Amino acid sequence: MKENVYFIEASDNERDDILCERLKGLIEAEDLLGFIADKDITAVKTHFGESPELGYARPLYLKMLGEVLKGKGGLPFLTETSTLYKGNRDNAIKHIAHAHTQGFDVATTGMPIIMADGLFGDEEYDVSIDGKMYKSVHIAALFAKCNALVVVSHFTGHLAAGFGATLKNLGMGCASRKGKMEQHSTAKPKIVKKKCTGCGVCAKWCPEAAITLVEDRAVITAGKCIGCGECLAMCRFDAVKYNWGATYEDLQKKVVEHALGVCSLYQGKSLFINIVTRISKDCDCMGHTYKKITPDVGILVSRDPVAVDAAALDLVEKRAGLVLSQLAYDIPYRVQLDYAKELNFGNQNYKLITV
Ligand code: SF4
Ligand code: SF4
Repeated sequence: MKENVYFIEASDNERDDILCERLKGLIEAEDLLGFIADKDITAVKTHFGESPELGYARPLYLKMLGEVLKGKGGLPFLTETSTLYKGNRDNAIKHIAHAHTQGFDVATTGMPIIMADGLFGDEEYDVSIDGKMYKSVHIAALFAKCNALVVVSHFTGHLAAGFGATLKNLGMGCASRKGKMEQHSTAKPKIVKKKCTGCGVCAKWCPEAAITLVEDRAVITAGKCIGCGECLAMCRFDAVKYNWGATYEDLQKKVVEHALGVCSLYQGKSLFINIVTRISKDCDCMGHTYKKITPDVGILVSRDPVAVDAAALDLVEKRAGLVLSQLAYDIPYRVQLDYAKELNFGNQNYKLITV
């Protein structure tokens, strides 16, 4: 059986307010949020973008969704998780402040921001899954406490996953820091001696007592390290480095298993929206100059996280007249979709309903 994917086709550079109105009309006409019950605590997961020029989902889409959710009796809020790497979004304080500068606050969206993984990204919940790599995955704790989930993703190329959209937003974006670490690499963090001040904060927080101070510099005992990333998050001097080089296939499979874990918490109570405009070669975490790699495609909506990504990928390639590896990075990029099929997670066979 095919999964319905609704497609709002955009002409290139179509205005967001017009697309947003059409999205609202679609959601209401098809009652796509009909699963929201009175007082449902509803997490609206998005990505606030790294800079104003990049192609993240603009606040007006979130505002509209918040209004529709509230109209259904739901209690929606915006949510995100901290990044592993150092930057504007590596803890809740910086991340929320950054979201405000990107235009996401209560005044513009009507929803508060509540970080799903706590102040430092370490508040988590272990979700049991029937995966091939994991029997349980570390998901940001807050997702276990909500009644419904709406995921608003922006489609981009990605240097390791091939592309990033709903599955990536679920698998990586909803994981706790430990979950992210597990996906990114099997390697362990290293200390950059030149940057280490010997403050000892990492050693204090290391849950495995894997860090000692030797001659006023931190040293990690690799055999004890579990790769939780606590030291990476706690070091204020950027002295903890990490090898992000998991294989492409490995990373994509891990992303899918984590996405499966998140979705298992919301059976029949989730909706997935892909904004397929302002498509760049790199993901929205990359703050460098934004350049479009193909004309805008539009917006895709589905109750199935795999179908919505499969449709977005097909439409991007159709619009560009090129395969994704020609548009972005020359790496295997359909692993995410094929692996989801192996796990019986979602359905990449979709029925495209153009509205
Ligand atoms: S927290 Fe950073 S600077 Fe302090 S000891 Fe650890 S690695 Fe060195
Ligand atoms: S990754 Fe975790 S276990 Fe490994 S050294 Fe850092 S804090 Fe300790």
